[in-house]
Amino acid sequence: MENLGADEINNIIRQRIELYKIEVKVTDTGTVLRVGDGIARVCGLHQVMAGELVEFEEGTLGIALNLESNSVGVVLMGDGLMIQEGSSVKATGKIAQIPVSKAYLGRVVNALAKPIDGRGEISASKYRLIESPAPGIIDRRSIYEPLQTGLIAIDSMIPIGRGQRELIIGDRQTGKTAVATDTILNQKGQNVTCVYVAIGQRASSVAQAVITFREWGAMEYTIVVAEMANSPAALQYLAPYTGAALAEYFMYSGQHTSIIYDDPSKHAQAYRQMSLLLRRPPGREAYPGDVFYLQSRLLERAAKLSSRLGGGSMTALPIIETQSGDVSAYIPTNVISITDGQIFLSADLFNAGIRPAINVGISVSRVGSAAQIIAMKQVTGKLKLELAQFGELETFARFASDLDKTTRNLLAKGRRLRELLKQPQSDPLAVEEQIAIIYAGANGYLAPLEVVQVQGFIAKLRKYLKRNKPRFQEIISSTETFTEEAEALLKEAIQEQIELFLQEQT
Ligand code: ATP
Ligand code: MG
Repeated sequence: MENLGADEINNIIRQRIELYKIEVKVTDTGTVLRVGDGIARVCGLHQVMAGELVEFEEGTLGIALNLESNSVGVVLMGDGLMIQEGSSVKATGKIAQIPVSKAYLGRVVNALAKPIDGRGEISASKYRLIESPAPGIIDRRSIYEPLQTGLIAIDSMIPIGRGQRELIIGDRQTGKTAVATDTILNQKGQNVTCVYVAIGQRASSVAQAVITFREWGAMEYTIVVAEMANSPAALQYLAPYTGAALAEYFMYSGQHTSIIYDDPSKHAQAYRQMSLLLRRPPGREAYPGDVFYLQSRLLERAAKLSSRLGGGSMTALPIIETQSGDVSAYIPTNVISITDGQIFLSADLFNAGIRPAINVGISVSRVGSAAQIIAMKQVTGKLKLELAQFGELETFARFASDLDKTTRNLLAKGRRLRELLKQPQSDPLAVEEQIAIIYAGANGYLAPLEVVQVQGFIAKLRKYLKRNKPRFQEIISSTETFTEEAEALLKEAIQEQIELFLQEQT
């Protein structure tokens, strides 16, 4: 060391500085070769990572998706109309990430987690990658807590557990979104943070959903992530991952969350558009080969975490639109196989006035009664079976002229049970109300009523229980069991009210 002269040291330092400059110039910027249809081809950017954010000279952001030998395919997250051929592109060195904080509750944001509700900036000090690996097996525990949707047909027969992935599937305009938004409304006071991700929806329907949430005071615990039908495909593609990252922030801090993807069919379409423009080879229905991975890596992020990780949960409710009930199309089959069950909505039922139009026979929840409170299990025992038998019998009875008495009784009971499961939109039922209603139907108390009177009677019974029998609700919420005392209270209330109701009608 001693024999280095001042000149040599000077030289070394100069060399280093020169090398340093060269490195920065070569690796960090590229040049736009071609731009159009939301895609840019860029040369240079030799060290860019797959999925890295790049910034164009005029400010548009993009994601580097296709890394090829002499160019990079970038998907634009804006219209990119001002990008010029030959202009420069900077790699940011960052994989897409978003700020996360509690301040997001009550807000409507886009896929970049920027507010779009005109209520000012959202403060946040933490960041999360929008794509992060799903928790592994050791980090999870089995699902056991119910996530009450407030819809009697679902909570009684297709129960959803916290941390589950339950698909809502059906044709267009069959009430899919309504099932999801009603579930959000019902989380009031349940300590569940909700994220509603709208992908490629009409702006008017998203606005309507937000208005409903506000009216119900549901925005206090809800975040809406929205990319409308006119947003660039790249943003529609990112929106569900952004929503998942926001939900994860709450889940990993030990809270319960529920995330609704409305809907992954549009997500897959946005991805197909991007892939075709990037000239990736098309496969079945022109979707790229990795469309299964696109959806599985998103839905696998839903979990019930082990107590070591705080015991938080993320329940995912993806919505899939089918074409005339065809569940064997590519995207429906994929998502059915990823999720832990499906709620099937049928257009025929919807048009016949049975709303929510849930086809109970082919809807399942693979978590099953593990996600029900004991009281619910006690009263719903044979409900699903009875309804299934009724369904068969009804089809059969259409052709028969004279039926024996048992068959007529079964049909009469079935019709009343089906009537019980009807429920208007935005009218969630508390679990004790559901128990009371099912108990009345399953034990034949509704037999003296006409089918058309059933809904009217239920409304009366609900009001009466709330006002005059608070003890019933107390028992159910404190013990979660349908005790003898609760049963006696309920029986008395039902009998009394039926009599009163019939008197009023005559
Ligand atoms: P899209 O395919 O357009 O997304 P969707 O399947 O999400 O439709 P919704 O928008 O939820 O369906 O509902 C369709 C219509 O049915 C709406 O007008 C809604 O108000 C009505 N609707 C939904 N659920 C019920 C219900 N339980 N009772 C009465 N009307 C309902
Ligand atoms: Mg919808």
